[in-house]
Amino acid sequence: MRPTLSLLPGLLALLALPAVAAEPTLDACLATLRPQALAQGVDGATWDTHTAGLVRDPGVLDSLDYQPEFRTAIWDYLAGLVDDQRVADGRAMLAEHADLLQQVQARHGVDPATVVAVWGVESDYGRTFGSKPLLGSLATLSCEGRRQAFFRGELFATLRLIASGDLSADGLVGSWAGAFGHTQFMPSTYARIAVDFDGDGRRDLVGSVPDALASTANYLRRAGWRPGQPWGHEVRLPDGFDASVNGRQSRRPLSHWVGRGVVRADGQPLAAADTPAALLLPAGREGPAFLVFKNYDAIYSYNAAESYALAIALLADRLRGGDGLQARWPTDDPGLSRAERRELQALLVARGHDIGAVDGMIGARSRAALAIEQARLGREADGRAGQAILAALRSEAAAPAETPPAETPPVDSLPVEPPPAR
Ligand code: CA
Repeated sequence: MRPTLSLLPGLLALLALPAVAAEPTLDACLATLRPQALAQGVDGATWDTHTAGLVRDPGVLDSLDYQPEFRTAIWDYLAGLVDDQRVADGRAMLAEHADLLQQVQARHGVDPATVVAVWGVESDYGRTFGSKPLLGSLATLSCEGRRQAFFRGELFATLRLIASGDLSADGLVGSWAGAFGHTQFMPSTYARIAVDFDGDGRRDLVGSVPDALASTANYLRRAGWRPGQPWGHEVRLPDGFDASVNGRQSRRPLSHWVGRGVVRADGQPLAAADTPAALLLPAGREGPAFLVFKNYDAIYSYNAAESYALAIALLADRLRGGDGLQARWPTDDPGLSRAERRELQALLVARGHDIGAVDGMIGARSRAALAIEQARLGREADGRAGQAILAALRSEAAAPAETPPAETPPVDSLPVEPPPAR
């Protein structure tokens, strides 16, 4: 007998009873999708086995409709993704997998630093695959929300990968939208692009580092990667430079830029060749400038965002031993590394804020706590995690005795400590 699920969904989900925890609406929807799945090559037994007991996840629907009101500045985004920790970890990966990466380059034409940089940005070198049960997310998005047809295709692709033996369904987790594994491919991309590099007959981007790194290289190559060429360079623009022509789509021959006085920021020569090159000014004329080539477009195609492509390109340069950006971002309050974000969160916890885990991820609760502290300190209460608020809280915590003794009341007259801000 089935209990009345509508009364107890939260409790049942909490008890994690897979046989009874599915929402009736998801079961009913999946039943209607079964013929469509079979028509698209999903084996009936696979469908029945792996859609039984899936749990509706309303959280993924929230993510689908989330309009970010907190826009991340490029310097904040890069400070977290290209920090010393990710550079050190990436250099360790380059050493640990040197032979493998050389074989990947020989077969797919993409250099080790680029492959490892994608790995580091996508899953922190295999540490973070996502927190959502993959099939539950895709089933929910196939039955509700704005893009059901798209997500049904992804659900069916996942089940075909399971049926073919490439993927194991056990413990399969991903992002809310269904990207998963070392390379965070969507299932349909996985089906098209993944390669079996360790030779066990399975294309396994969850359990096999060789398969994952070779698949990343295969993706970039198919996106137009040109072996042996750079993604681009940080450049310096001459005084009075007309920067009205910029953006990834506005390509000009490299000689066009050289002729107008553009030079590499590191002082190396810039060949006056015909190579198509575009000028990027991610923070406008006052911030760092870049000339980017075809390989930048290949990286861009991985996730279709300038900030993302720049993070991978700049991390790859650091992994090759580069010093990082020469120009400064146009801000007097630069962004924080993940280590600094954890320090900031620990300072918030020490002041009594309940922000959840000190994990270096500045979420809604951390931002709310930051806004309270900023207001207390007479700063703009925008909830942003930057160097200024970190420095202020750090110096306060380090020097509580800075308060002039004369203003400190006798101990027995101290007021009762107010409840910590939350
Ligand atoms: Ca394999």
